[in-house]
Amino acid sequence: MAFLIDGKKISGQIKDELKVKIAELKEEGLVPTLAVVRVGDDPASALYVKNKKKACAYVGIESRSYEIPDTTSEEELLQLIGKLNADPDVNGILVQLPLPAQINEKHIISAIDPMKDVDGFHPMNVGALVTGEPGFVSCTPAGIIQLLKRSNIEIDGKECVVAGRSNIVGKPMSILLLRENATVTTCHSHTRDLKEVCKRADILVAAVGKPHFFNHEYVKDGAVVIDVGIHKLAPKTFCGDVDTEDVMDKVSAITPVPGGVGPMTVVMLLVNCVDALLMQKGRK
Ligand code: NAP
Repeated sequence: MAFLIDGKKISGQIKDELKVKIAELKEEGLVPTLAVVRVGDDPASALYVKNKKKACAYVGIESRSYEIPDTTSEEELLQLIGKLNADPDVNGILVQLPLPAQINEKHIISAIDPMKDVDGFHPMNVGALVTGEPGFVSCTPAGIIQLLKRSNIEIDGKECVVAGRSNIVGKPMSILLLRENATVTTCHSHTRDLKEVCKRADILVAAVGKPHFFNHEYVKDGAVVIDVGIHKLAPKTFCGDVDTEDVMDKVSAITPVPGGVGPMTVVMLLVNCVDALLMQKGRK
């Protein structure tokens, strides 16, 4: 039977570690502060933002909300970003994606001060990730590395297959695994014989955004499977990209959905906020 990699528990441990660190910073008069910008009233975005603010409150990060209408122009949003960039009391800036069609996401991401880019999406931080320089890393892949390390799953020398090549999950995931000395293959919709490639994996990261896409035919015996997908099947019923039941007898470890990768994404945002404060104070 597979070992369940408990993202809720691991994220809870990291949150408690952060709580202590933030309390110490507060004694020095330093309060990590995150500006959360939400444009429009998409219910999914509203829920994500609510969860992030709740997590901030738990560890002692101050969050400031900027909820602006979906008619906001790109220029107006750029002005707000400019103000937040210039505000020395704001350490991190998060613009919840997606944005309304009149706003170019790339322009907004590039306008955020890279030192405050706690999502790790700015091209400078992406470049730093590739070249191994310090910088912010996209929260979901960073959280997956923590899940593996804190579950004592060796990455060094392993054959890792990442299914998906998005800028926020697949690509940074592949680079992080490479940095951990894995042998990495990145797959996408043009990959020939995906099943055979995935079956090579000691560690398979499933991030194609398709419910129950990966069944036992995609995994080798004893593989570790990280399921990044999250799909709502019915109210309060979710599944991932992996058909968990079908692969359960074959894999050695797997992340559940929900309760696997999801909680790690939020906690890595908190880690990045504290790092942002320390970097801005020249202490990291
Ligand atoms: P995305 O931007 O839609 O990217 C999907 C990737 O999968 C693309 O690179 C695409 O290839 C590839 N793909 C699609 N169909 C494929 C197929 N049949 N065979 C091989 N590759 C295929 O998605 P994303 O933002 O990376 O997110 C992936 C999933 O993770 C989604 O379910 C999302 O909701 C979830 N997610 C979860 C968290 C979390 O915290 N749990 C965070 C972020 C995302 P091409 O590039 O060739 O199109």
